[in-house]
Amino acid sequence: MGTDLFDVAVIGGGIAGVTAACHLAEAYRVVLLEQENELAHHTTSRSAAVYIENEGGPVFHRLSTASRTFFEADHPELDGPLLTPLGVLKVGGETERAAFEAEVAAANEVTSSVRLIEGDELLAECPVIRPEVVTVGLLEPTAAAIDVMAVHQLFLRRARAAHAEVRRSARVTQIDKGHIDKGRSVRWELQTAAGPVEADIIVNAAGAWGDEVAAMAGVEPVGLTPMRRTAFTTATDFDTSSWSMMYSPISKLHCYFKPEAGGQLLCSLSDETPSEPCDARPEEIDVAQAIDHINALTTLNITSVSTTWAGLRTFAPDRNPVFGWDDQVDGFFWLVGQGGCGIVTSPAAGQLTGALIRGEAIPDNIASLGLTQEALAPRRG
Ligand SMILES: Cc1cc2nc3c(=O)[nH]c(=O)nc-3n(C[C@H](O)[C@H](O)[C@H](O)COP(=O)(O)OP(=O)(O)OC[C@H]3O[C@@H](n4cnc5c(N)ncnc54)[C@H](O)[C@@H]3O)c2cc1C
Repeated sequence: MGTDLFDVAVIGGGIAGVTAACHLAEAYRVVLLEQENELAHHTTSRSAAVYIENEGGPVFHRLSTASRTFFEADHPELDGPLLTPLGVLKVGGETERAAFEAEVAAANEVTSSVRLIEGDELLAECPVIRPEVVTVGLLEPTAAAIDVMAVHQLFLRRARAAHAEVRRSARVTQIDKGHIDKGRSVRWELQTAAGPVEADIIVNAAGAWGDEVAAMAGVEPVGLTPMRRTAFTTATDFDTSSWSMMYSPISKLHCYFKPEAGGQLLCSLSDETPSEPCDARPEEIDVAQAIDHINALTTLNITSVSTTWAGLRTFAPDRNPVFGWDDQVDGFFWLVGQGGCGIVTSPAAGQLTGALIRGEAIPDNIASLGLTQEALAPRRG
């Protein structure tokens, strides 16, 4: 089998990989390598599909805010919008009030839509709440439901239109440093299940497998931890069309549920269980506990489940994303550690990847929010 030569090999066909390919393919010969026979098979297709800005801490918040313009733009390739308005309501009792007040102040340094609500306003956002348990809410009214597969398809379509090559069933199994051969130098030689590939730059967008890919390339891992989260849907007779998504961080009552089309609620315990990189499977105990918590906080009285699934949310040790060049090994770019925010941050992540690989500064729309390369760097202090 012959070896194919590219400028950039992007490893991973989830949202991170396709947004990177989309932003690089105009300037470089790009190949996107995905181990599964379909793209977006792992975490990307298993999310709750919510656009929240005030989520994951200040770094993620800024990347999500920087992504909003893309999500709200008219994209000629699409039939409909990427976002559908859906408020997000974080609920608590008096124990949570002080933390919520501090969170409003911090969130509003970036965006000004987050506010505390209580009483009738709280009940209007989520009429099934039990007022004896829930007394205060932190509302993000400008949050939205997001069409994740449309976002993924949009990036993929643009990458392909710019001649990126997409190889499925192409698990990368070995990465060697390159060579100089007949006057031609190549930095990386990759063995894949679909044949060998050579490239000058590797973009590591391998999600839960990010540290494994790094180790294969002789790059020191950054300490990623994949965390399993189980989710499920359940049918409801309530008219949920005007409800916000409800999220409870209350100790021993943590959970969320999100109104979906067709009389369904998407629910989760918002569990985080460390896992090996794998095809994550749902845990019955996490579904049962989520039902207990939701029923304790609301009058939904959930008794049955329609579908269940699980995905891996992958975190760096400080729970911030890892976007940037490795500072020890040339030609290795990290695009991992997106945790629970990989969809909402994907437009900014792709933009940033394109700029840094082309040797440019962080784009203005991201830098103006106060984000620096140091905050995202693989080996930040
Ligand atoms: C229950 C749940 C709810 C969530 N809700 C939200 C939400 O509302 N909003 C939000 O923004 N985010 C949410 N997330 C998080 C979001 O889904 C992730 O941050 C995002 O999908 C990560 O994308 P990724 O491309 O990095 O990873 P993945 O989609 O996992 O893609 C990585 C790809 O790399 C491939 N790969 C790995 N190793 C190799 C190899 N050696 N060779 C070739 N290919 C390889 C894998 O097969 C995989 O397809 C949620 C996650 C879960 C589990």
